[in-house]
Order: sequence, then C-alpha cells, then structure tokens
Amino acid sequence: MLKRFAAILPCAAATASSAAGSPLVSSKESSAQAGSAAKDGLKVSVTFDAVKEFTKAVGGDRVKISTIIPDGAEPHDFEPKAQDLAELSTAKVFVYSGFGMESWADKAISSAGNPNLVTVEASKGAEPIQNTDSGEIKEHGQYDPHIWLSLKGAETEAENIKNGLAMADPGSRDYYEKDCDSFVYRLESLYSEYDGKFRTVSQKSFVTGHAAFGYLCRDFGLKQNSVEDVYAEGEPSAKQLAELVQYCRDHKVTCVFAEKMASPQVFQTLASEVGAKVETIYMMESGEDSGDYLERIESDLSRIYRSLGSGNEK
Ligand SMILES: [Zn+2]
Repeated sequence: MLKRFAAILPCAAATASSAAGSPLVSSKESSAQAGSAAKDGLKVSVTFDAVKEFTKAVGGDRVKISTIIPDGAEPHDFEPKAQDLAELSTAKVFVYSGFGMESWADKAISSAGNPNLVTVEASKGAEPIQNTDSGEIKEHGQYDPHIWLSLKGAETEAENIKNGLAMADPGSRDYYEKDCDSFVYRLESLYSEYDGKFRTVSQKSFVTGHAAFGYLCRDFGLKQNSVEDVYAEGEPSAKQLAELVQYCRDHKVTCVFAEKMASPQVFQTLASEVGAKVETIYMMESGEDSGDYLERIESDLSRIYRSLGSGNEK
C-alpha cells in the first residue's frame, strides 16, 4: 500500500490544507533503512528544477536526486513517458510541487509499483491562489501553480521535503532539519530585506512574459502584468502591440522581463517601441544553469525591485 506523505505545518497549514482540496493523510513508519540511505545517498525522484533545488538545499549530500522533467522541456505541457518514470520504481522519495503543476503525478505514483515510496506534495499547507481568468484556468488549472517563486512558498516546500526525507531516512533527521533550518533562515532574511525595499516604492507593477509571479506578488503587494497571450500566439498583431506600448507608457514601464525559455522576439519589439529594456528573469521551471535557488530568486527580486525603483534607476 502506498504511503502518502502529508506534512503538518505549524502556522499556515490549517487554512491551506482544506483550500487545496486534498485531505491530509496520516503517515506510517517508513521501511527505509537509515544506515544504507546515508551511505549511498537517499534516492529521491523530483519533478522539475525548483523542486530539485529545494531537495538539494535540504538533503545536501545525503540525497541522490533524479529529475523527471528534462531541462528544456516545457513543464506545463509535460506528459511523462514510461522511461521518464523509470527512477520512480526504485526511489525512496518522490517530490512534486503540486497545485496542479504536475497533473500526471497521481497516475505516475500508482503506476510506479513502489509500495514503500514516500510521496511529498511540497506545496501542501500553502494557501493557493485561485485562477479566475479563463485562459489561465485552461493553461494552469484551478490554481496558480507557481508557488516556488514565493519565498514563503519555498519555506513551505522545504519544510514538507524535510519531513518526507526524514520519514524515509530517519537516521538523518537531524541533518535534514539543520539544512532546512539554515535554508529557511536565509529565505526569511531575504524576505525581510525585500519586504522593506518593496514598501519604499510607489510603482508596484511589472511586466513579464509568463505569469509566474502571482505568489511573489502576493508576498510583497506587487502586481504582475503578463504579455504571454501575445507571444503565445506568435507575432503580435499591430493592434496588440500598440495596446501594449500604450500600456507601458501609461504605467511608465522601463523594463520588460523575459524568461530564458521564451522567444525574445516580442519582448525585443515591445522594449524597442517603448524604449524599455528586456531583462532575463528566472522561473525555475527548467534548469537554467545559473546558480542555486537562493541566487536565482535573489536575482529576480533584485531585478524586479530595480525596475520599480524610481522609474529611472538601472
Ligand atoms: Zn509556469
């Protein structure tokens, strides 16, 4: 029988577990051998880049991570093939982010034939953002899945992962707790720093290609404006472009963010029309060979902050 792991979190958990629509399920003793896990590395299968980063931050050198969604694949459209899930049959822990990001997860777990697998839905306990826009619902489902781009969300994910790793490898519990505590401390420091900074700016909105920053915006009282619809359909029409240009002028947008995976064409066009610059922003949906989670999220926060700044700052 599958051991489904669900974390119980100290504060935000109560509101969130019911909001997320899935019940907390009690856990059972893991059959994992504490000693062997420490020696060879606890085998953990994760879904995509951000989840890998959190698992690495908490698991350190005691985990051996394999990532199911390959770098370069579009994670929202991903449908795993049998070979993508091969590691799941022998893994001790499976970590996915949830909130609909990996709609294939339940099926993958049940087809893994791995009765001792500890499963971690890393966003469990966080409060989801409901999608209201019909386009977003069609693309992402009922909830905005991008919880990992929130420092608060990252904290929840790390805590849940820590509990899952400790359940599968109880002999390393202290180790995981120590790593998790130091990661959470750094997340909270970064949060305090940017909470202070974002309070000082009057301009609160920024423009991004992919609408991945809903949770980050909720954390800091910001607003993202996505031009995804435009580039998703290929080249924008003259009318769409004119509207966007006007939008940027009205809101004094000096910077448009583009993720690495997106075609830069639209952003270049838009930026040159408005005289704004295009900056790369990390989504952590796929490997971006640019540092760990904290480095990339700090880069994102710093770029967003500078873009809001006085309106003229670089
Ligand atoms: Zn996304």
